[in-house]
Amino acid sequence: MNYQEAKERLETPRKKDSKIIANNTILHTTEDGGIAVQLHATDVITFYPDGSVIYNTGGWNTVTTRERMNTFGSREVWVCQQKGIPHALLTGEEKGIPFRETFSLSTDHKSIISDMNGSAIKKHKNLLKKINQYTNRFVEKILKKEVPPPSSGDCLYCQFREVKMNVSLGESTKNKEHILSHLDEAYYVPSLFVRAIEKYPLSMISNTILSMLWNPEDDQYSQNFIDKMSDVFTQQARSSLKKYLKEQLGV
Ligand SMILES: [Zn+2]
Repeated sequence: MNYQEAKERLETPRKKDSKIIANNTILHTTEDGGIAVQLHATDVITFYPDGSVIYNTGGWNTVTTRERMNTFGSREVWVCQQKGIPHALLTGEEKGIPFRETFSLSTDHKSIISDMNGSAIKKHKNLLKKINQYTNRFVEKILKKEVPPPSSGDCLYCQFREVKMNVSLGESTKNKEHILSHLDEAYYVPSLFVRAIEKYPLSMISNTILSMLWNPEDDQYSQNFIDKMSDVFTQQARSSLKKYLKEQLGV
């Protein structure tokens, strides 16, 4: 399954918060916005709307746990046992990745991060934290009119477009470094935001707000409108930006 399929399963024929899907196994929504396959008391698989999936044996590395993971988990992953250690195998890969109790599948389903390697997990978590902080601050600054419209002064990798595919130079050259440096330097690049909302569009209301923020008329009407709708804008802008950054950084 993936998140969408899990959601459909919960919603058909009637919408419910949880459903029995196998022996001692239910599908249910989680507090952090995911949908989980729960075996006994453990959420063995949790799907998230951004595409990421977390697998967790909860310490019960049993045949049943692995069977549930393979039956209901992502099609791109196979969980098996090698020399007594559970391994996660990505489709097309020959070598499994060992894990202790848990591993996560990236949003693009191309990489696995396992709890076997403590430092890699820590790095991943730190990066997610940085992305969150950067995103929140970025949107806050746009609303305060502290981020100008895109200009030729922007980071070149964010600004320039590869003509044929119309993607940014950073995307076409697969350059992650410039984005990592923007996170570290708290450099809120207008072109980066524009590219993010091009890939993950905002609603019409949020687009209107953005154009009011970037073409200020200084009338009371615009400011009232912005104030009234700032929550909507904040939520959508954060979501687009976060998705884009995660996608670009492969987390
Ligand atoms: Zn850049």
